[in-house]
Amino acid sequence: MGPSVDAEVLVVGAGPVGCWVAAELCAAGVRVVVVEARRERVGWSRGFVVHPRTVEIFQSRGVAAGLLAVGRRLPTWHFAMGASRLDFTALPTSFPFVLLQPQAHTEQLLEEHLNRCGGEVLRGRSVVGLEQEAGRVVVRVVEDGVEGVVAARFVVGCDGAHSAVREGAGIGFSGNVDSMVCPTALVELADPPPPERYMQTGERGVFFAIPLPDGRFVVSTVDHAVMNDVSAVWTAEAVRESMVRVAGTDYGMGAAERVSSIGNSAKQADRYRDGRVLLAGDAAHVHFPMGGQGMNLGIQDAHNLAWRLAGAVRAERDGLSWDGLLDGYEAERRPAGERVLEDVRAQMALVAATGADGVALRARFEALLGGHPEVNLEYARRLSGIDVRYPGGDGRRVPDLELEVDGERVQLYDLLRRVGPEFVRVAVGGGSGDVVAERVVGPQWALAEGWGAPGLLVVRPDGHVSDE
Ligand SMILES: Cc1cc2nc3c(=O)[nH]c(=O)nc-3n(C[C@H](O)[C@H](O)[C@H](O)COP(=O)(O)OP(=O)(O)OC[C@H]3O[C@@H](n4cnc5c(N)ncnc54)[C@H](O)[C@@H]3O)c2cc1C
Repeated sequence: MGPSVDAEVLVVGAGPVGCWVAAELCAAGVRVVVVEARRERVGWSRGFVVHPRTVEIFQSRGVAAGLLAVGRRLPTWHFAMGASRLDFTALPTSFPFVLLQPQAHTEQLLEEHLNRCGGEVLRGRSVVGLEQEAGRVVVRVVEDGVEGVVAARFVVGCDGAHSAVREGAGIGFSGNVDSMVCPTALVELADPPPPERYMQTGERGVFFAIPLPDGRFVVSTVDHAVMNDVSAVWTAEAVRESMVRVAGTDYGMGAAERVSSIGNSAKQADRYRDGRVLLAGDAAHVHFPMGGQGMNLGIQDAHNLAWRLAGAVRAERDGLSWDGLLDGYEAERRPAGERVLEDVRAQMALVAATGADGVALRARFEALLGGHPEVNLEYARRLSGIDVRYPGGDGRRVPDLELEVDGERVQLYDLLRRVGPEFVRVAVGGGSGDVVAERVVGPQWALAEGWGAPGLLVVRPDGHVSDE
């Protein structure tokens, strides 16, 4: 049985990553407590981009419809804000687009999903420290100025870039500090650019504008003239001046709020686990939001971690060991994070290269993406998250295959949704499994990739192929 606990898993932080890991754990029958420092969810959206792999994950749990109904679908995306767009329509996925959708709305849907799975967020509780003891973690939590403790078998730190859980577990956060900064503000634009000019790269830097549902814009620049002044204090007037320098106009900028800057520091936790403490999302990695990948990467961490942790909890209930199961989390997700950090660094180097040399470098890169469909597709696959392949076996993520089962057409992701975070064995062409399918009938691109081969397809709870 082990020492007493208040929860099997304590999730710290109810951002998108905390909500997802907690929902998966609740669905797997784990006793979860979620604590969140903020009394209310933030209405303000940092991000907008939901990538195809994340939509696939949501679809496999029945959460995608709410996003797909309202999000704006973009058939192309960018690498380093270049004009040669990445063609997402060529991606082998049922969701071949970037979904633009304010992060606040995504977070609301994920918290509602968590509630449907039986979990709730305990707000106004800040974690300030933790101790690992034999068989449990004792976490210090402050509510209304009063400190108490919560004990759990495992703790997941989803508490963002300045993670108190990471700090409490003594896990380092390594990488580069800011060497450049980009001013940003939420503004009214009386004369906004047309959509094809929302992203502009020129000799003096990059300007970009993200339209919000209320008609305002988040504007930002990579302004070669001032980008290395990392200690600059930005004002609305300075943002306007920067827009004029880079884009040649302030687009009729009116009232501005949330004037700040975003730096290019890129850091990753030295370990994703220390004993019974695990990290996911921004607590494990941060980078400049180029390409809109941070939340996506974090949700994909959560999806990988939750079934492992549910397995560890069950193993511990049965007096079995669980180390190997949790070691797999770091082995699979740390390299995925490293790859995103590397891509973001490469993009930052491209946009920050100055003068005629920078123009030439970007032009060469544009020519590569624009003139070589296979290079374009490779970058689209990388950013979309669909080509993450875990080491040690097949490791690919399984697409939403259309199966023929008892003469009926069935979508694989509908089966996964019904089963929840469990392994699913699909016997294609006969044999024994949880599902016996006569054959895989589509999509065509999946058949072309070999997904229709007869045999046993074992799908892990996170939707990747298992070699078991
Ligand atoms: C300008 C900008 C644009 C971005 N655009 C995109 C985009 O388009 N697409 C994308 O995928 N990503 C984007 N990102 C990144 C994305 O916002 C983050 O990666 C994402 O929010 C990380 O989610 P998280 O749940 O790990 O952390 P967070 O969203 O930071 O949530 C952490 C939660 O933990 C809580 N917390 C913190 N400390 C404690 C504590 N001690 N105790 C209890 N609770 C605590 C916080 O209150 C918070 O609710 C962008 C980021 C920025 C800055």
